[in-house]
Amino acid sequence: MTVGAAATVADWLDRAATVRPRAELFIDGRFSPAASGETFEDIAGRDGSHIASVASGGVEDVDRAVAAARRSFDDRRWSDQPPATRKRVLLRLADLVREHLDELALLESLDVGKPIRDTLSVDVPSAANTFQWYAETIDKTYGEVGPTGPDALSMVTREPIGVVGAIVPWNYPLIISAWKLGAALATGNSVVLKPASQSPLSALRLAELASEAGLPDGVLNVVTGPGAVLGSALARHAHVDKITFTGSTEVGKSLLRAVGESDVKAITLELGGKSPQIVLADVGDLEAAASTIGWGIFYNSGQTCNAGSRLIVHRSVSGELVERIAALGRELAPGEPLDPATRLGSIVDDRQLARILGYVDLGRSEGATVVAGGMRVREESGGYFIPPTILDGVDNRWRVAREEIFGPVLTVTEFDDEDEALAIANDSPFGLAAGLWTRDVNKAHRMSRRIRAGVVWVNTFDAADITVPFGGYKQSGFGRDKGRHALDGYTQLKTTWFDLSGK
Ligand code: NAP
Repeated sequence: MTVGAAATVADWLDRAATVRPRAELFIDGRFSPAASGETFEDIAGRDGSHIASVASGGVEDVDRAVAAARRSFDDRRWSDQPPATRKRVLLRLADLVREHLDELALLESLDVGKPIRDTLSVDVPSAANTFQWYAETIDKTYGEVGPTGPDALSMVTREPIGVVGAIVPWNYPLIISAWKLGAALATGNSVVLKPASQSPLSALRLAELASEAGLPDGVLNVVTGPGAVLGSALARHAHVDKITFTGSTEVGKSLLRAVGESDVKAITLELGGKSPQIVLADVGDLEAAASTIGWGIFYNSGQTCNAGSRLIVHRSVSGELVERIAALGRELAPGEPLDPATRLGSIVDDRQLARILGYVDLGRSEGATVVAGGMRVREESGGYFIPPTILDGVDNRWRVAREEIFGPVLTVTEFDDEDEALAIANDSPFGLAAGLWTRDVNKAHRMSRRIRAGVVWVNTFDAADITVPFGGYKQSGFGRDKGRHALDGYTQLKTTWFDLSGK
């Protein structure tokens, strides 16, 4: 069997035809059906075909998963293991993810419609690297001793929060699950993971691999089924101590209400975005900028929270830049995700396809000119494909500039001076990320400080590394994934005083 990057489209199609993924709930180290016995259909974006019938869990299943997680946390079967042992387990998990590269890449491509070249080279390796990185932190994290004088010893230590409910979206299922699991497990928590209904398969396989790596039963559980039922049950559950959520701002707000109305459990939210790409007149190499800006919106068919979806460009370079991005867009025609030559895959499902096309129509009616893409293609495949799309002449007050489209759609808004550019960039409910393009280093520093976003890329876009935090300002949420700062979100500080006076 040909594997990895050497496999051809025929190899991948053969494998896709025979794949039989585990699709039941993973609770207390075992797969089991939903209490109701119900399932839902998992559909491939590439051709609309059935991949698996997945257990459709309910409140009773959440109770079972939380009880398993609670037991495993309360008896300290994971958190009390020596750091070197916990590190070995997570390193083994990283290795197992690498060893199952083909299998996980195929599941992810089928579920999400991502090109197999990306899942092989980005999604799976990045998930493995995340587990490795967090494993390495386990025996390198120290507490503090407070400067409280000679008659006292005050120790400041970090303890795991307890049972974590992790709710994740469909656009980067493995990567985002790994961010949350890596940090939560490294700090000794137990987890109930709820993947999105469009993309449940890689999370289930990951849980099985974690068990094989030596993670004790009950420490990682996966529940599948309707988010409105399962997510809300987790957020309101008295035995869940923390919710970590990545997804839409709308659902994030509902989770915030749920934890407020129940037991004010800890919560972090990584939400939507509408990231600006500000291009000044002195941008320099227009071709290089066009390529990075184009990939910054079109990668993963625009289904990326930090996608640079608003081009805010100086009038003097706008025409040429937009033409170059449109030329790149024409080169990037979407294709069969399982063909290793394909660089843009499908949209995740028919609902998302309709939503994106609805926004293109809205843009037209608001007054935008569609200068590239804008329609469904490859309909004969049965899948959901939209080519790179550019809406030119957009006013930042229009809905297409304010709402997250979550598709390969770039809006173009021109400006005349830099204060105006910053005002347009910051005039958004979101603040996840931003790009700034200029050759002037002073301007780059001055302006990047004034952009209200959690990540600012200067003369680049979408640079990413597990070593640095990722997360947003404003309605893009709060708390951070990735890097050492993420560990704070899965621990609580304890101050312990000892009297040394001898009284
Ligand atoms: P979503 O609709 O908010 O769903 C996210 C997760 O929440 C899914 O597991 C979903 O389960 C569950 N869910 C749905 N309704 C729920 C409810 N009422 N209560 C609790 N949980 C609920 O988001 P999505 O469509 O999967 O993902 C796209 C969104 O994620 C975009 O807005 C994107 O910007 C955001 N995102 C943000 C980041 C970041 O780091 N800031 C990263 C990636 C994506 P079901 O699938 O079963 O409904």
